[in-house]
Amino acid sequence: MINTLKLDTLPIMTQCGGPNPIPERVLHAISKQTLYHYDPVFLEIYKDTTAKVQKLLRTENDVIMMHGEAVLGLEAAAASLVNPGDTCLNLVSGPFGQGYARHLKRTGGNVVEIVVPFNESVKAEQVEDMFRKNPDIRIVSMVHSETPAGTLNPVKEICEIAKKYGAVTVADAVSSAGGIDVQPDWGIDVCITSPQKCISGTPGTAIAAVSEDAWNKMKSNDTPLRGSILSMLDMKERWLEGGRFPYTPSVNQVYSINEAITVILEEGLDNVLNRHKRVAEYCRYQVKDLGLELWPASDDIIADCVTAITMPEGTNDAELRGIMRDRYKVMISGSHGDLSGKLIRIGHMGHTAYEAKVMIAVDALKSTLKDLGLL
Ligand SMILES: *Cc1c(COP(=O)(O)O)cnc(C)c1O
Repeated sequence: MINTLKLDTLPIMTQCGGPNPIPERVLHAISKQTLYHYDPVFLEIYKDTTAKVQKLLRTENDVIMMHGEAVLGLEAAAASLVNPGDTCLNLVSGPFGQGYARHLKRTGGNVVEIVVPFNESVKAEQVEDMFRKNPDIRIVSMVHSETPAGTLNPVKEICEIAKKYGAVTVADAVSSAGGIDVQPDWGIDVCITSPQKCISGTPGTAIAAVSEDAWNKMKSNDTPLRGSILSMLDMKERWLEGGRFPYTPSVNQVYSINEAITVILEEGLDNVLNRHKRVAEYCRYQVKDLGLELWPASDDIIADCVTAITMPEGTNDAELRGIMRDRYKVMISGSHGDLSGKLIRIGHMGHTAYEAKVMIAVDALKSTLKDLGLL
C-alpha cells in the first residue's frame, strides 16, 4: 500500500502553505476505531471538540463543524447569510478574497469591493469610507491571513467599523487560527477556520464560530437556507438545539481535531502564538540575509504563518521548487491564482513553526540558488 502510494519518496521536510506534517499524536488519534455517531462516547468527544475550538478562538459563540474542506464553510457562510439583493462588501487583497465574490453573487448578493494590490492589505479607513458611501452594506467579507500572499488584514479594526454600521461580518481565518491571534469577539460574526493550517490537523473539515447577529441574519432572510449541506442553520437548529446531526459527521476527523487542539492548549495558546511570531521573524531575517526580497509591501502587514518571497530573477517556480524537492528533499509552496509564479512561500504553521525546521528549508533554498548560479 505504502509503496503504491509512493510515500517512500516523500520529501524529508515539508514547509508549505498547508497542509503540512502533523504531530504523531494527531495521526494516532485519527486511526482510532470509528464509532457510531450517536454513541454516547462519540457525542462526548464531539462536544468536547467544539468546546476546545471555543478555547482556541477565545469565544463563547456557537461553534459548528461542517464536514467538508474549509471551502465548504466559506461557501456555506455566504449561502446562509446573503439574502438576494443584499449589498455585500467584499475585501480583496489576494486570491482568497478575490474568489469570495463568487459565493456572495451566487446567492444574489449585490457585491461591492475594495481591491488592493496583492502585496498589500486593506486599510480600515478604506472600509469606513466605503460605509459612508454605501450605508446599506449588510455583509462584509474579509480574509484574515491571505495565505497565498503572506499578508494579514486588520480584521479587528475592520469588524469594529462594520459592526458600528450594523453589518454582519464573515472572516476567513483558515490559516490564522492557532497561529495568529484571531477572536470572533472582535466582532467577527462568522469566523471560519479549518484544521489543515496552523491547527496541524488533517484537511477535511470546516469549523465556524457563529454569533447571535449572524444567526438572526440567517433566520430573517426571505428564504432561510435549510435542508442543504451548505446550511449553517441546519447545524444550529438540528444539531445544537435538537441534538441530531443533519448528516453523519466525519467521525475520525473529529478525533484528530480534538487531539490537534489539545496539543495547542497543552503548550498554551499564548505560547503557541508567540512561537509563530518568533519563528516568522527568524524566517524573514534568514531570507533577507540571502539577499532575497519579501513579497509583502511592508513588514507590518506580514502574516506569521508563512513567509512569501518574491521570485528571484533568473529562475522560475517549477525549476526552483523542483530542485529543492528533488535534490534537497524540501518541499515549499508556490502561490496560486493571479500570484502563480510570482512568489515562493516557506510555511511555518503549527507543527512546522520551529526555527530548526525553517533553518533547514532556508538552507535548502540557499543551496538551490547556488546550484542555479544565483548566489
Ligand atoms: C487554505 C486556505 C483555505 C482553504 O482553501 P484550500 O485551497 O482548499 O486549501 C481558505 N482560505 C485560506 C485563507 C486558506 O489559507
